[in-house]
Amino acid sequence: MSRPRIVIVGAGFAGYRTARTLARLTRNKADITLLNPTDYFLYLPLLPQVAAGILEPRRVTVSLTGTLPHVRLVLGEADDIDLDARTVRYSDPEGGVGTLTYDRLVLAAGSVNKLLPIPGVAEHAHGFRGLPEALYLRDHVTRQVELAAGAEDPKSCDARCTFVVVGAGYTGTEVAAHGQLFTDALVRKQPLREGMRPRWILLDIAERVLPEMDERLSRTADKVLRQRGVDVRMGTSVKEATPNGVLLSDGEFVDTRTLVWCVGVRPDPLAESLGLPMERGRLLVEPTLQVPGRPDVFACGDAAAVPDLTKPGQYTPMTAQHAWRQGKVAAYNVAASLGRGAPEPYRHSDLGFVVDLGGVKAAANPLGVPLSGPVAGAVTRGYHLAAMPGNRVRVAADWLLDAVLPRQGVQLGLVRSWSVPLDTASPELARTPGAPEKAKAKADAEKSPTTSPGRERGPSEDPHKPVEGSKGDS
Ligand SMILES: Cc1cc2nc3c(=O)[nH]c(=O)nc-3n(C[C@H](O)[C@H](O)[C@H](O)COP(=O)(O)OP(=O)(O)OC[C@H]3O[C@@H](n4cnc5c(N)ncnc54)[C@H](O)[C@@H]3O)c2cc1C
Repeated sequence: MSRPRIVIVGAGFAGYRTARTLARLTRNKADITLLNPTDYFLYLPLLPQVAAGILEPRRVTVSLTGTLPHVRLVLGEADDIDLDARTVRYSDPEGGVGTLTYDRLVLAAGSVNKLLPIPGVAEHAHGFRGLPEALYLRDHVTRQVELAAGAEDPKSCDARCTFVVVGAGYTGTEVAAHGQLFTDALVRKQPLREGMRPRWILLDIAERVLPEMDERLSRTADKVLRQRGVDVRMGTSVKEATPNGVLLSDGEFVDTRTLVWCVGVRPDPLAESLGLPMERGRLLVEPTLQVPGRPDVFACGDAAAVPDLTKPGQYTPMTAQHAWRQGKVAAYNVAASLGRGAPEPYRHSDLGFVVDLGGVKAAANPLGVPLSGPVAGAVTRGYHLAAMPGNRVRVAADWLLDAVLPRQGVQLGLVRSWSVPLDTASPELARTPGAPEKAKAKADAEKSPTTSPGRERGPSEDPHKPVEGSKGDS
């Protein structure tokens, strides 16, 4: 075969690792293209620290072009994959469209916010899956405290200073734990009415926080949250959300202007659109991460249902740990399918989990050893630094600054509520006024002769080069 063309869709934990490993394995003898809507890899586990003003947003990003030599970045989102024609059609951030052709495809598009059919939630809640949502939350919380401090009406002050987080998995637990510390720091500088303190409520229908983790981690997290003043209410959910508050399943109405939706994630809708066998929205793959019946297509990370060989009958959970390791195996198996080495199945036992609770507190169980307090805090931060594929010095510098300086209570107001809707297939991008509609870009693509899937390639054209399409309205 001439230079094989490998297209990787998504540059998260799985896609980034696939690209990095493949670049090393193929030694510039293959064209590796990474299609991603942003020019960075996002280290999601540190997102709660961005919302709480500890880390500046760029700290949790790692430049793709800066860290992936020999990998070509194409900025855009895949909208349509033709498995027979071996093409991926995408829209770029300015509404242009293009098509990539491949010999091997790796699907690693991750996941998006999970919705539940509860009245008012899609309109009034915000998710926590991308950088825009974290920036929105940081600004929004700061603004609520500022407005509450100046409010004449105690009821309005109370509502603004009540923050409701739904979902006590690692995301919701970390958001609430960091949130309480953040708002306590804000009101130290601009006190509320006498006797008032910001109140964070953490809800979950489950019986305990961190329901899917080791019980010892749950106990540690529960204790830290309660000591900090977070109102932990297990066995409780939301019945309805309104602009002024939320009605809980126990009948109580909580006045609030903040509803953070952390009930979990669902696989990116791109996986569903392929019409291939699925397992709860995830693309079913073999232990080698190959899609059955499609030996040229691989999938990994949150978007793929990967059989868990350490727990027969189950699939690997949606965690960064699995996605990162699957990315490596996907790269080896893509290389094997091109004649380099033999394919290997994905097999990995959990190495434990770390949950950062803010301050010096954390709950961790590295290699199954339960830790709490400052030891867990140090292990957790050390783990994140080691796991980040770049930007470590800047992250460590922000942690150091946060330890010695007061938190910066400033809201820039750049990400507004409407630009981070809960119901979106692109949580990594904030909506902007006048942005081209995806549907329009698609329609343009269908009209445009340059992007027609059946088009014959001219002899001088680079088959791997994106085909320029028409621009949408800007
Ligand atoms: C706030 C938060 C905290 C978390 N903390 C932890 C933790 O502490 N430990 C842990 O193990 N896990 C944690 N997770 C889960 C973990 O981050 C995910 O399991 C992991 O990111 C999955 O990796 P992935 O590569 O499948 O997807 P992602 O990392 O989400 O990457 C998917 C990539 O695909 C891109 N993409 C999406 N759609 C398209 C498209 N149509 N075309 C092209 N590109 C596309 C996205 O922009 C993104 O870059 C956390 C998740 C969140 C949201």
